[in-house]
Amino acid sequence: MTTEMKFHVLTLFPHMVTGGLLTGVTGRAAEKKIISLNAVNIRDYTADKHGKVDDYPYGGGAGMLMQAQPVFDAWKSVTGGRNIRTIYVTPQGVPFTQKTARELSRERELVFLCGHYEGIDERVLEKVVTDSFSIGDYILTGGELPAMVMIDAIARLIPGVLGNQASPEEESFHNDLLEYPQYSRPEQWHGRKVPEVLLSGNHKKVTEWRLEQAKQRTSARRPDLYRKYQEKQQLIKRLAVHKRNNIHMMEGLARGQAEILYSDAVSTVLLHNRRCKTCMAIAADEAAGITIAEKLPEDTELVMVSDFCLKELLVQRRFKAYGPYVQMLYTRREVLPVRYRDIRPLTPDHLPYVCGRYCDDAGGPGVDSEYIRARIQAGAMYGAFAEERIVGFAGIHSEGSLGMLFVEEPFRRQGIAAALEACAVNRMLEKGWTPYGQISAENTASIKLQEKLGFYRAEKTFWWLEKTLANST
Ligand code: SAM
Repeated sequence: MTTEMKFHVLTLFPHMVTGGLLTGVTGRAAEKKIISLNAVNIRDYTADKHGKVDDYPYGGGAGMLMQAQPVFDAWKSVTGGRNIRTIYVTPQGVPFTQKTARELSRERELVFLCGHYEGIDERVLEKVVTDSFSIGDYILTGGELPAMVMIDAIARLIPGVLGNQASPEEESFHNDLLEYPQYSRPEQWHGRKVPEVLLSGNHKKVTEWRLEQAKQRTSARRPDLYRKYQEKQQLIKRLAVHKRNNIHMMEGLARGQAEILYSDAVSTVLLHNRRCKTCMAIAADEAAGITIAEKLPEDTELVMVSDFCLKELLVQRRFKAYGPYVQMLYTRREVLPVRYRDIRPLTPDHLPYVCGRYCDDAGGPGVDSEYIRARIQAGAMYGAFAEERIVGFAGIHSEGSLGMLFVEEPFRRQGIAAALEACAVNRMLEKGWTPYGQISAENTASIKLQEKLGFYRAEKTFWWLEKTLANST
């Protein structure tokens, strides 16, 4: 079962919030218990016997201010003092973007605080608010619409809320491009025809046309975004000089998952995948390694490196090293044959089976039951079944690499592992990605299997480094 994501909204107008969000897509998600919405009336918590929640600001000035007491008591009633991320919607907040929505969609519970009048007494904001977000440089009369905008944007990224799981990956802002123009029936309307290429049935041509349109549109309407897109494309080109060694970074950039934090040459680069708190880095020498180590974001949990000096530097900074790993990539575009009858996506019912076989040292850094649950929910895990019983699995990691391969002993050497890998490879090809993965250098059987499937091996050696408690204090 999917775990419900809880949204609490502290407001003076709860009906406005429930009326807006309990309809359409978000309403259906609430019915299906993928999300829940709890709109709390701040006025119910005022200690004033006339139900007043506002008063004049000290020092004078136009308008009224929401008082600290009712806001704090409403907040306490929801959180019970628990440490839940509490968002104040305010024109003074940092701009809310698609990236923020993606990051927040990984939380289990969020509280939104809606202001009114001239805003809220600063002291209660200091006490309860963890984040402040604005929906744009204009002033609205209250925080309900901004909270609803944010909840809508966050909710639709939660697995199961949108019917078609693929769609968020093709929308505007994914990969720093606005979406291409779209057309529906009829083919001709008011003398205007649907572009010929969309009727051609040629998927490759359609994809190329859409990318070109997205680029033209972004460059004309959002030159700021387009500059970011171009910067990434240029780095991808530079990294492609050593494609086998750098495919993990090229794919991170191309798939819109990684941001450039630092790049001074092709041999010193630091990328950050904010969603999974993971960095990927290469450093030309020790001095460059020190620069990279200093630029790692605070919340980094894992770092993938392929330079020994960088690995040693991070170990000195109390990261725990896993590896060495061999990186392998599949450069052909043809899909692989799946030579096993019963392979299908896993469901949350299979979580205990997968965890029982993979959530230990074999799983590598960062792989625990929460992680596997999220991969299953993302539709990124496949199982092989024999007479309705699961006998093996494989999947796609959150940062985009192939992995998590396991087949039960009596079912090995029957081509099941190859079929599971083929399934994951084909899914990546479908999305226009280049399949790659890292395999423990000791796992010669798996390396051989990948070579048999047509994978190439990178020259460099790779390590995963995990932040330990010692270096986070
Ligand atoms: N005096 C406040 C200021 O200058 O920052 C503006 C108060 S506004 C009239 C009332 C409430 O509406 C705010 O407390 C906030 O919750 C909400 N609000 C207004 N515009 C917003 C925006 N662009 N983004 C997010 N929230 C907004």
